[in-house]
Amino acid sequence: MGDRPQGEREKLDRLVICPKCNTLHEKVPLPPGQHAKCRVCDTVLYRHDPGYLDRVLALSITGTLLFLIANLFPLVKIDLLGHQQYVSIFEALYQLYASGFYVVALAVAFMVLIIPALVLVDYVVVAYLMRQQRAGGIVRDLLVMLAHLTPWSMVDIFTVSILVALVKLRGEVTIHFGVSFWALIAYVAIDLYLTRGKRLGHLWDLYQRYYRSAPADTVREGMDDVVLSEESLLRCPVCEAVNEDREEQTVCHRCGSHIYRHPNSGVGRTWALLLTAMILYFPANLYPILEIKSLMGHSSNTIIGGVIALWDDGSYPVALIIFLASVVVPILKFILLLYLLISIRYPVAESKSARHRLFTLIEIIGPWSMVDVFVVTILTGLVKYSSFKIIAGPGATAFVLMVFFTMLAALSFDPRWIRESEERRREHVVD
Ligand SMILES: [Zn+2]
Ligand SMILES: [Zn+2]
Repeated sequence: MGDRPQGEREKLDRLVICPKCNTLHEKVPLPPGQHAKCRVCDTVLYRHDPGYLDRVLALSITGTLLFLIANLFPLVKIDLLGHQQYVSIFEALYQLYASGFYVVALAVAFMVLIIPALVLVDYVVVAYLMRQQRAGGIVRDLLVMLAHLTPWSMVDIFTVSILVALVKLRGEVTIHFGVSFWALIAYVAIDLYLTRGKRLGHLWDLYQRYYRSAPADTVREGMDDVVLSEESLLRCPVCEAVNEDREEQTVCHRCGSHIYRHPNSGVGRTWALLLTAMILYFPANLYPILEIKSLMGHSSNTIIGGVIALWDDGSYPVALIIFLASVVVPILKFILLLYLLISIRYPVAESKSARHRLFTLIEIIGPWSMVDVFVVTILTGLVKYSSFKIIAGPGATAFVLMVFFTMLAALSFDPRWIRESEERRREHVVD
């Protein structure tokens, strides 16, 4: 905040809280090429990587070109009884939309087309401006936007889904991969490098170095006079800067996001989102997610039915992937979120870093539950002969909504509730 003394802000800038286990560390200057890890859980906290911005710029431009290629040309060609069929992402989405699955088509369009494209452009502009050390305000807004967009970009999972879809068709068709498919794979590799592994935090560190005050590795004299209590520090969920929690209205001193919410005011919302998702789990599993129309008649598959059919076919790894992603992951997410929500109400004597790690696990496994919906999308686009058609079933819409509400519930969960409950528990023990 504006009225914060300079010394205090610099002191905060020198601190880092581990995103995985919430342990507080003080930053030390690093030699080039080195990184610092959390002393508790080994997560990379920050790094000194002098060529980083050049690499981000080069990779994001390359990624944009690859993404264009991946979308402009067919990904796969299949041969069925002498008929050839091509599929591109656009085509698959159009088929879904045309068969009335507006919610599914829209959700998939956002996750594999619109948001990934925005993320790429965002990276190009950020890296370009930062290299010139220009337009700090715009860079800051774009970095905040990146933090909000990346959880919803799921091309990596979509790519795995293409392979799963092809295994489902295996035996019935001949499959040829187009140039676009390989472009997509290369794009995913770049996307993983840019968006995973604490690298957004690294861009924020560079933002701080280029646009604000003294470099983080110079120690100002007299700074040790500033006293901050560890208990009142919190990590900004958007930019990872360490902030002091000041009861009412804390605005992050680095990215400007509102990071303070009144204790427990948001818990009710998380409960509501989670319960909605849990209710949707039933139609998502009871209704067919896939319908097959052929000359032999009409058949449909629920998620479990599809898993059993794959298993009987001998496609054990794929059956396992779909079972884990579509059945186990959502239930696991429900249980973990329920456990966290109940544990902040009735504090348990478990270490809070363990609960923080549980929470991180939810964020990592969550998006994988989309695999089966993506598979249905691809099959709908791929198999559309007049005599043999695969289309989405009503279960797909329920499933997409379930994933959506579960993600919102996880995003609305405030990790600070864990700390607050821990404080309450300790007070209780003292009483
Ligand atoms: Zn840690
Ligand atoms: Zn922030």
